[in-house]
Amino acid sequence: MIMTEWKPRTELGKQVAAGTITLEEIFSTGKKIKESEIIDMLLPALQSEIIFIGGSPGKGGGIKRTPTKRTARMHRSGRRYRVSALAVVGDGNGYIGVGASHSKEHKDAVDKAIHNAKLNVITVKRGCGSWECSCGGNHSIPIRITGGEGSNRVMLIPAPKGIGLCINDEAKKVLKLAGIRDVWSKSFGESRTRSNYTLSIFDAFRQMNRMKTEAVVKRPKPDGSHDYPDEDEKSRRKKKGDDE
Ligand SMILES: [Zn+2]
Repeated sequence: MIMTEWKPRTELGKQVAAGTITLEEIFSTGKKIKESEIIDMLLPALQSEIIFIGGSPGKGGGIKRTPTKRTARMHRSGRRYRVSALAVVGDGNGYIGVGASHSKEHKDAVDKAIHNAKLNVITVKRGCGSWECSCGGNHSIPIRITGGEGSNRVMLIPAPKGIGLCINDEAKKVLKLAGIRDVWSKSFGESRTRSNYTLSIFDAFRQMNRMKTEAVVKRPKPDGSHDYPDEDEKSRRKKKGDDE
């Protein structure tokens, strides 16, 4: 991608092109990124992965995984196809974005999904919340956190150094791009829909960003009680509704 071709259309884009604003400043002021070039410019190490959400029944059982999902609807003159894609972008160092799209063509759907993923980039709070490790590094996550999409829930649990990513292969792509090296996971509900599984992980990262830093640092008292606010399901839903 050649940056000189970029003509910023938004005020934020102009600031980025002029080099007067950093990504941290954009996130701390809550500005909305509407041009994918902003991310290209501020995160030059950004890489993308396509989550294999498609599949067709193969011979001899099993499903052949495909990058895009093709769905058909009937029309007077025959079948009309729609291709869906889900992309993840990340710099492998604390920034991640997930985006979905659909089109008539495979390549078009993939390109649009990557574009949308860039517009959805968020920071990933990393740390070492594993009591077995307690190294103070950022190879894992600071606390256990659950995210959800549809009927799927995924819990990410801090793991000590060297454990690796204990999660399915498609989800590994997301965690690697986020820059997390060690994590345990548990999933609940329907987890066969890989797009929902991926979006659940992305949601977990968003939940983590909403948590107060104090809650991350403080630990329960020896008697099990604590004096920091608990994020219950109800308040999380409310906040989610506010964002949309
Ligand atoms: Zn550690």
